[in-house]
Amino acid sequence: MATAEIASNLNTWSDLADRILAGHSLTKEEGLAILSSDDTELLSLLDAAWRIRRHHFGNDVHLYFLKNAKSGLCAEDCGYCSQNVKSTAPIEKYNLLNEEEILAGAKQAYDSQARTYCIVTSGRGPSNSDVDHVSSVVKKIKDEYGLHICCCMGILSPDQATTLKDAGVDRINHNLNTSRKYYDDICTTHTFDDRLDTLKVARNAGMELCAGVIAGMGEEHADLVDVAIELRGIKVESIPVNFLNSIDGTQLEGKWDLDPRFCLKTLCLFRFANPDVEIRIAGGREVNIRSMQAMSLYPANSLFVSDYLTTKGQAAMEDFRMIEDLGFKIITGDARTAELLADREKAAEAAAQAGSSCSPCGGSSEGFSC
Ligand code: SF4
Repeated sequence: MATAEIASNLNTWSDLADRILAGHSLTKEEGLAILSSDDTELLSLLDAAWRIRRHHFGNDVHLYFLKNAKSGLCAEDCGYCSQNVKSTAPIEKYNLLNEEEILAGAKQAYDSQARTYCIVTSGRGPSNSDVDHVSSVVKKIKDEYGLHICCCMGILSPDQATTLKDAGVDRINHNLNTSRKYYDDICTTHTFDDRLDTLKVARNAGMELCAGVIAGMGEEHADLVDVAIELRGIKVESIPVNFLNSIDGTQLEGKWDLDPRFCLKTLCLFRFANPDVEIRIAGGREVNIRSMQAMSLYPANSLFVSDYLTTKGQAAMEDFRMIEDLGFKIITGDARTAELLADREKAAEAAAQAGSSCSPCGGSSEGFSC
């Protein structure tokens, strides 16, 4: 059936949401209809996606905080990445951070009300000593902050995955980035199947999976739909949806194909295709979704606070304000984090009662100076 026919057969996007909530799996044709829908339908499309998101996640928002624990120096050639071997982008390059630096990132994550601290290292895959180092720091982070931990370290062996799991790592991130069909156009040094294999290794070790995409790399609508459906098949727990932030010096320099409305339709596609999965608005949201960022939290239920790997994000306070303005609620993570935050609130209340002139800032009196 042609896409236009499907679109006209859908009485409303709300009908499609009803069917998804009743257990229907989004078809490829329906996915294409979402991406090619007219801008005049955008509000009704967002409303339908919001109904699905609200059913599964209410008005909760999960925040993620990224730490680039090893930057640049990568021999792979992922065309979107400023750390790739062919990139001439002037980025910071450094080897694996020491324990103190990774712990400092965990404190920042905790102070930013993040549920998850993401430890990211550049490269095709980690050495065993990198895995051992990160594992030993993760044990300390768990004790001190109780954060949910996601590691993104490239291609993992089964033994490395088990070491990370045993240290307390909850989740592995390894993005698919695009469809199988388009993969070779953005990277030649590893394959789509290599990425799928690492996701399998992480799952077999007992960890949750985070795998997402980058829209705007020159792919067709069908590629985005294919990867949305592929991720449903893998049953990932979390999908970061990135929007290409074209960096000078990379192979995708000057590629600015996206507009805010299409970005919102892309988030709706991922919500319809993966109704009960965490969908995160990831890299490139500030420059691609721009003034419409608040609307992206109707289909999505999660976002990164602060900076990305090699690019700046907006200030955390702006995100807190946006979430508060929407009437949504930040959900922090593990029981230990909740306990620590409750202690901190009590201490702030006690200080206020004792006549302190300083009031908590953004729900936290630590980390953000008043
Ligand atoms: S995405 Fe990862 S593997 Fe690819 S070039 Fe960047 S750092 Fe290397």
